[in-house]
Amino acid sequence: MESNDNPRIIVFRHDALNSGDNREEDPGTHKVSPPPRRKRSWTNAIVSFLGVLYKAKVFLLFGSLIFSMIVYGLAFGWAFGIGLALIIAIHETGHVLANKKKHLDASWPMFIPFLGAIINLRQMPRNADDEAFIGIAGPIFGLGATLISLGLYESTHIPVFRWLALFGFFMHIFNLMPIVPLDGGRTVSFLGWRAWIMGLIGLLVLLFYNPFTGRVLIDPLTIIILAFIIWSFIGRVRHGPGRDYNAIPLLHKWGYTMLWAALMLLSIVGYLMTGSAVTSIY
Ligand SMILES: [Zn+2]
Repeated sequence: MESNDNPRIIVFRHDALNSGDNREEDPGTHKVSPPPRRKRSWTNAIVSFLGVLYKAKVFLLFGSLIFSMIVYGLAFGWAFGIGLALIIAIHETGHVLANKKKHLDASWPMFIPFLGAIINLRQMPRNADDEAFIGIAGPIFGLGATLISLGLYESTHIPVFRWLALFGFFMHIFNLMPIVPLDGGRTVSFLGWRAWIMGLIGLLVLLFYNPFTGRVLIDPLTIIILAFIIWSFIGRVRHGPGRDYNAIPLLHKWGYTMLWAALMLLSIVGYLMTGSAVTSIY
């Protein structure tokens, strides 16, 4: 009979915990053995504060990702919306891993619908070499995801994969424009402001007159994106790092420039080929 008593007590306590109802507990037991008072130490406070911050970070990361999926889903349909958010998330994963590899203090990405995602760098990279490494990692991952989407279309012929590939390529043409704070600009930041001016011209053409679709596009979002880029660009020109920031081996400069050019070419050719496949069905 004794063996039956223990499970009953456990079940009772479990129920009392779940319902939040402690009235059936004997209040006398608390008086006999009061719980030991915990000392409020600073370390405890800091640890719990860090725990809250960590949860907020996780919430911000996944909350903003899911929010983006919902907004894209409502705007473009669920399959495309979720796929698009995944391509952006994979792109950001590239930056996160590169930041870790270079031991850079950076926030986790926060996803903003129609703008992609932002990572707050709390410190500048040590030099143009590290900045190029971090800058190019996103497009490498993002274009990888885009190519996977294209491969899925080739093997399944499900239309949404083709649309995702088309958008992925277009997104990276934009992203690889050689102007800070875009990834292209960060990859070849050592080329200086002359390259950034070229990037700005490319960006203006792409934003206001899309040569691929022939559409003129002037809307509030375009103006906001452009204003943000120009504001960051001017800030970088005025308060940019010193000359030794760009003192990296010539071979690295060539390597990153060639890699940047190859990815830009891949994006443009990919976009034109996927686009012609899209227009051929209409
Ligand atoms: Zn990026």
